[in-house]
Amino acid sequence: MPALFLGHGTPMNTLADNRYTQAWHRLGLSLPRPRAILAVSAHWYVDGVAVTAMEKPETIHDFGGFPQALFDIRYAAPGSPALAARVQELLLPLAVSADHSWGLDHGTWSVLAHVYPAADIPVVQLSIDRRQPASFHYELGKRLSSLRDEGILIVGSGNVVHNLRVMTREAEATAYDWAGRFEQSVKKHLLRHEHEALIAFEKLDPEALLAVPTPEHYLPLLYVISTQQEDEAVSFPLEGIDMGSLSMLSVAIGNT
Ligand code: ZN
Repeated sequence: MPALFLGHGTPMNTLADNRYTQAWHRLGLSLPRPRAILAVSAHWYVDGVAVTAMEKPETIHDFGGFPQALFDIRYAAPGSPALAARVQELLLPLAVSADHSWGLDHGTWSVLAHVYPAADIPVVQLSIDRRQPASFHYELGKRLSSLRDEGILIVGSGNVVHNLRVMTREAEATAYDWAGRFEQSVKKHLLRHEHEALIAFEKLDPEALLAVPTPEHYLPLLYVISTQQEDEAVSFPLEGIDMGSLSMLSVAIGNT
């Protein structure tokens, strides 16, 4: 099974039909059908490592200021307590708590609504422990990589470049220079399999802190690329910068 990083951008993409959502939809059609999905979303950034362990995860609307239609979205994919238990087992001796209070947040459902619109593939979310350095997240992904051989699709959902403070709402806004540069630098290192450089992301560019002012949208990428075998392909099913400062770059590890 390939592994995917998806740049999710604005939650409004859930309701949109644009080149981003069309690319996500095509991915769903081209991938082998997974047994289940393990999603690492930028929006579950908490103290500690947890997996959602419920049979029926709630759709969480973890934002404000959007139209009612977005709050009405339900992504009714089942959970998978079995996959949650398998994640706990693979990460031992690290204590991973079985969560019954979270669910699927918009980092997960805004993209999966297009990749798998039927919502018929079980989804488990893994939290990102905000107390830990980037290298920890990379190592965790590596320890989960055998899930790919078990038919599990690992999906990281964030944005390689994510700066809401300077984001512009104009259509067709020009990307900031530093945003384009940072995205290109990420691509270059991915193509060269230079993962150490990607772990030390704050050194990728003199203005890296503008591209990644806080790490939660970048870190899901590390869970995906750490599953890459030495001889495995990397490709970019989608790229482009939305609203000046949101990179929509998608990264696929393995054949899609
Ligand atoms: Zn987000």
